[in-house]
Amino acid sequence: MIPFEEALEIVLNNAIPSGEEIVGMESAASRVLSRDVFSDIDMPPFDKSAVDGFACRMQDAAAGMGLRLVETIPAGTIPEKPVHEGECSKIMTGGMLPNGADTVIMVEDTEMSSADQVKFTKEITTRNICYRAENIKKGQKVLEKGTRLEPAHFAVLASVGNTGIWVARQPHIGVISTGNELVEPEHFPSGSQIRNSNACQLVAQARQIPSLCSYFGIADDSPEELKDKISMGLYEADIVILTGGVSMGDFDYVPGAMESLGAKILFKSLAIQPGRPTVFACYNDQFIFGLPGNPVSSFVLFELMVKPFVLKMMGSNEQPRMLKLPMGVDFSRRKNYRKSVIPVTVDEGAVYPLEYHGSAHINAYTKAGGMMIMDIGQTEIKKGEPANVRFL
Ligand code: AMP
Ligand code: MG
Repeated sequence: MIPFEEALEIVLNNAIPSGEEIVGMESAASRVLSRDVFSDIDMPPFDKSAVDGFACRMQDAAAGMGLRLVETIPAGTIPEKPVHEGECSKIMTGGMLPNGADTVIMVEDTEMSSADQVKFTKEITTRNICYRAENIKKGQKVLEKGTRLEPAHFAVLASVGNTGIWVARQPHIGVISTGNELVEPEHFPSGSQIRNSNACQLVAQARQIPSLCSYFGIADDSPEELKDKISMGLYEADIVILTGGVSMGDFDYVPGAMESLGAKILFKSLAIQPGRPTVFACYNDQFIFGLPGNPVSSFVLFELMVKPFVLKMMGSNEQPRMLKLPMGVDFSRRKNYRKSVIPVTVDEGAVYPLEYHGSAHINAYTKAGGMMIMDIGQTEIKKGEPANVRFL
């Protein structure tokens, strides 16, 4: 049994870059940038009005004073007339500031005293101008390689004209379930059968990273069938994930099947609960995870180990969202020789463990906002003491 941190290090040290590809805006959501993005223009590209109002010289804009209106400037037109002493131009939000003007008075702070005379009703305190290049300068780096693309990044990509986007290639994950007791979810389980719930959970977790994911079906607990399925998985995918068959039972043939194919097992027992019988193997530059069959174990180990591995392959600079927050109630566990992971909710800044009956408790995580991590040796956390929460 090795500590979880040591196992994670082994996994991450094996993460080989997934390569890159160029995609259009419509396919780039949540993908990881593989190159820095630079701006081809100043933003804004010209001095523009931040409000609907009247462009003029600040020294002419004292309250109660009247100015002569010389033109109207909609957004998207170039002003024809400069603003001289005692003059103003009506201007719309986003309109180009006319020469001579250094201030825009909001329309709300003015009144028309005749068809071409504007009077200011308030003392002027702000200029209401967005200056050229105040946000982005031409040539400036606007997005870093390794960024996972969120909606706000798309506005930046669009503004700098980056419509063909270099992103990390998504590793292809293949999922295999194992167990003679399993039937696919569309069937009603009879006798000693149960529904295969791990496969669709893992496929959903993989696609959420996001990565490409294929499901290769259920393998019976037979060394030959497992070997065949794993080699089929390796033929198509970069990473094969199996669930079940990795523990100490008489029919737990998964590690043996990996070895019979020539894969090298790098570890097969972790000091973590749930998730102890987790196996990681490499086969040339491909990788195989054998996750425990219990649904909570496979969910947790995917989050803690497979997801960071895939994100590192894609060069992501994203870190898990971890916070130390005060416990909302007293909490204790019986055994403390493994790291443990407990589903929790966070309410008004305090941590509350959810009902959790162990790794077969299929619905334990349905309302969890995060996982509370207790280190080896830690038995209890009293109300108000800090708990480590990793958000989902
Ligand atoms: P194993 O690791 O194969 O010993 O399985 C541990 C437990 O998880 C057993 O109760 C299995 O029936 C259950 N299990 C294994 N695979 C799955 C699966 N794909 N979906 C739901 N439960 C599973
Ligand atoms: Mg099994």
